[in-house]
Amino acid sequence: MARNLLAALAERPLVCDGAMGTMLMASGVESRVPEEINLISPDVVRKIHLAYVSAGADVITTNSFGGNRPKLAKSEMEELLGQVNLEAARIAREAAGDSLFVAGDIGSTGELLDPLGTLGYDAAVAIFREQAEALAEGGVDLFIVETMFDLNEARAALEGVHSTGLPVICTMTFDTRGRTMMGVSPAQAVEVLREGGAVAVGANCGVGPEETLKSIEQMHQADPTIWLAAQPNAGVPSMQGDRTVYSIDAEGMASFVQGFLDQGVRLMGSCCGSSPEFTRAIARVVKGT
Ligand SMILES: [Zn+2]
Repeated sequence: MARNLLAALAERPLVCDGAMGTMLMASGVESRVPEEINLISPDVVRKIHLAYVSAGADVITTNSFGGNRPKLAKSEMEELLGQVNLEAARIAREAAGDSLFVAGDIGSTGELLDPLGTLGYDAAVAIFREQAEALAEGGVDLFIVETMFDLNEARAALEGVHSTGLPVICTMTFDTRGRTMMGVSPAQAVEVLREGGAVAVGANCGVGPEETLKSIEQMHQADPTIWLAAQPNAGVPSMQGDRTVYSIDAEGMASFVQGFLDQGVRLMGSCCGSSPEFTRAIARVVKGT
């Protein structure tokens, strides 16, 4: 019973960590893909996880967002798929210890599914299953399927991950129109992802907490009993010289957290442009510390 996600979620909202990509970029480590850093500089990844642990995250997310076969193949790294994901899970597990949750991070294949593109549904399921099984072998407790735009791909990811028997959370990314890039509404996402067996559904990335909250409100309206997950970006990015800066700081993010909790959010984290400082500010509101 040390780590039972459903029991933990029933008890109180959980704090998820923040950006990995932003932090890896700041570390200055060079790699073909961010997931390669699990193999060439595991200490860098470990330190980022540990910073989120000390900031108060209950859920630590593996560095495996692009660790699926089509994405790795673009850098001719597909033969490292097993290793990259196994290490991602091991590093996170080590940082999280026995009491915190490790979520295996799963992103899009980067391919368009039939009928929008050529990737068949069953082939997509197999791609997600392959990554999920490697992450499960490394010791993850659950999966977060995130930054999804296409409902068919999200469904395929849920189906692929289910072979591990571990719980899965699925979040999609909505733009300023309140739709995903493929035109999916928050209410449609709730209906399909709930049907697909996600224990929580929600919204991540996007254009910041204000817009994400609107999507979450629509999800809550569509099903007031479903557990929701929110991981907004730190607002809108812009370039300052050669640096990307975001419009919302940690306190700005924290000011939205109670609103998310009031709308049924049980997993609250942050996405691009955030840092452990954001997690600390979020944890303060969620845990009342
Ligand atoms: Zn993001």
